[in-house]
Amino acid sequence: MAGAVGGPRVLLRRLREVMAEPEAAQKRLDKIVVLIAANMVAEVCSVYLMRPTQELELFATEGLKPTAVHKTRLKVGEGLVGDIAAHARPLNLADAQSHPGFAYRPETGEEVYKSLMGVPILRSGRVVGVLVVQNRSKRNYTEEEVEAMQTVAMVLAEVVAASDLINLQELDEPTAATRRRPVHIVANSFAEGIALGHAVLHEPRVHVTKLIAEDVDVELNRLEQAVYELRGSIDDMLETEDLSHAGDHREVLQAYRMFANDRGWLQRMSEAVRTGLTAEAAVERVQNDTRARLQRAADPYLRDRLHDFDDLANRLLRQITGVKLSSASGNLPNDTILIARNMGPAELLDYDKERLRGLVLEEGAQNAHVAIVARALGIATVGRAEAILDHIDTGDAIIVDGDAGEVYVRPSQDIIDAYSEKARFRARKQAQYQAIRHEPALSTDGEKITLFVNAGLQVDLKHLHESGAEGIGLFRTELQFMVASKLPSLKDQIDLYSAVLDAAGDKPTVFRTLDIGGDKMLPYMDAAAFKEENPALGWRAIRIGLDRPALLRHQLRALLAAAAGRSLRIMFPMVAEVSEFVRARALVDRELARLKTFGKPAPAKLEIGTMLEVPSLVWQLDTLLPLVDFVSVGSNDLLQFLLAADRGNSRVANRYDILSPAVLSFMRFIVTKCRAHGVPLTLCGEMSGKPLEAMALVGLGFRRVSMSPAAIGPVKMMVRSLEVGRLEAFMEGLYGLPTPSVRDQLQAFAEDHGVVV
Ligand code: PEP
Ligand code: MG
Repeated sequence: MAGAVGGPRVLLRRLREVMAEPEAAQKRLDKIVVLIAANMVAEVCSVYLMRPTQELELFATEGLKPTAVHKTRLKVGEGLVGDIAAHARPLNLADAQSHPGFAYRPETGEEVYKSLMGVPILRSGRVVGVLVVQNRSKRNYTEEEVEAMQTVAMVLAEVVAASDLINLQELDEPTAATRRRPVHIVANSFAEGIALGHAVLHEPRVHVTKLIAEDVDVELNRLEQAVYELRGSIDDMLETEDLSHAGDHREVLQAYRMFANDRGWLQRMSEAVRTGLTAEAAVERVQNDTRARLQRAADPYLRDRLHDFDDLANRLLRQITGVKLSSASGNLPNDTILIARNMGPAELLDYDKERLRGLVLEEGAQNAHVAIVARALGIATVGRAEAILDHIDTGDAIIVDGDAGEVYVRPSQDIIDAYSEKARFRARKQAQYQAIRHEPALSTDGEKITLFVNAGLQVDLKHLHESGAEGIGLFRTELQFMVASKLPSLKDQIDLYSAVLDAAGDKPTVFRTLDIGGDKMLPYMDAAAFKEENPALGWRAIRIGLDRPALLRHQLRALLAAAAGRSLRIMFPMVAEVSEFVRARALVDRELARLKTFGKPAPAKLEIGTMLEVPSLVWQLDTLLPLVDFVSVGSNDLLQFLLAADRGNSRVANRYDILSPAVLSFMRFIVTKCRAHGVPLTLCGEMSGKPLEAMALVGLGFRRVSMSPAAIGPVKMMVRSLEVGRLEAFMEGLYGLPTPSVRDQLQAFAEDHGVVV
């Protein structure tokens, strides 16, 4: 039996020489087929390339009739060549003519050749051609030979793509054209706003330029070292980053870990290196096979996992080539639109906010903290933009419609014009909101609704006055901790809290004590302590505060110091039972006593309240309410626990409508209790920032709501067009309905009564 002459490494070296010659592409291709045929001891070697018509055209051959070149064409799926292209996988046949797919083409003179081995020529996971060798005898090509052919095909893909003499445009059509064409993706709205800008991939892609190895052993070492480091970094991520993301991200990381430790993967890549590729080219070669399968997988679960594999290969490529893991520290355009599969809030905060206009996530959920931070930063954000990363590259023009939850990649001029108009319309709307900025949120029947903003960063403070809000209903103190690279000192905390109180002036501010854990992870925290199966139900927020009181006491000390001689409002997160509140309050008392001991000034007025975001506390309201100065419903957490649907898990986050009889009845119970006890009640979850949801809250009896600054204008417009009495009466009929949602009914009410939602 014949075998390869000199092996694939010799062939690659010869290919490199041919590539270096100043030759026209067709000539180069003609030489390459001769080289391959000789090296593989094959009588025939042919290259077929994909035409935009999805036909494979014979571009060069050694052994078949030269007159067939540029004449013979096979549709994808037609004949053995078409079959290889259709399935993006090799075929290795000792007796090709007995294969049911064999299609005889008389012009080629191939009838005398019995055996055939062909591999797809893949570029970015797309089939751009097929490389075939044939022999007269019934030859069994070895696995190594198939492997070598795949490596050669990879180099060939580069030759083809890099050459402008072959009709590159046409040749590259399946890759380039689909990538270059405008793409419209309907996704979910995460943060409102319209942004026109240019894409930056959060995790940069690596473009492999050096394909052929100088020294195979060196390359094998590089590969093994990189895989070793990759495994370590994934273990680290599972210990830390899974907590800075939410829900389904953990599943992804676990898949990463499984694949990274998959021996088969490393073996395939090592084999590719042994055929003469560099470590990075070997990763890409194996990744190409995965991508090709990805594009053909119909099963969504399998697609997800192949996607994980693709991501992992990208990570490995970055590991090998030393390309940084995030674009945050790179040069960003002034109109950056960040594209990521998913990210944690701290990762988003790493970026220069001045340059960020928009954010597009392939996954994510509306109430995940990254979305909350995006809203706080005023960045138009859409999430669950399916397969966006398959369609976009850094530098592409992109429009993010955070209002409608849509994305336009490489938009046509018509779309750009329409969006420029939409942006102008928004500006006019903003002007309307500005015009009522100093007006109260008073309903048509005279009910006053107090609108607060949610904040957490220094940049938020300017929004307080710009939005016309009456105070800060929720200051998320953990954000300062999340952006810092080390634990903020007492002074850092005092400085921030003083700045907040200075900015707020006589407007009330509610400081919520540290709400860390869950999906809010601090980069410098001991990750091992937070390794939990269900972080949202785990050791977080007040639980950490009470178990390790030093951190909480430190923070309380900073708050009391910053508020010396002024009013201070402190709120505790994630309180599940009255005793936790009592213990937390006792810590405040201890700090007050400490102030006294040292003769330091205390706040002129101190109010202490709690978040209502764990359902159990709702059943203790009669005990709790006499002890607190105020409560604030954290609907994001409260409803995820009530509905048992992880707020950060895109599969379930929107499964249940929060405008349902169950949720509304539950909320009404809270309102009734707080009214009976005369305790001020606010709602500070994301629910209050959406006009229709906010309308429902007002109808339930909420009179204080806290939201992202951009929501103040629209919600105020809603309130000023609403007759509360009529809505309350209308809602009486909704609580007992058997439907899973009363959204339509509320929408119809708004339309019938001219409520601007
Ligand atoms: C909430 O849970 O609704 C809330 C306001 O707190 P956070 O979103 O920060 O958990
Ligand atoms: Mg919460």
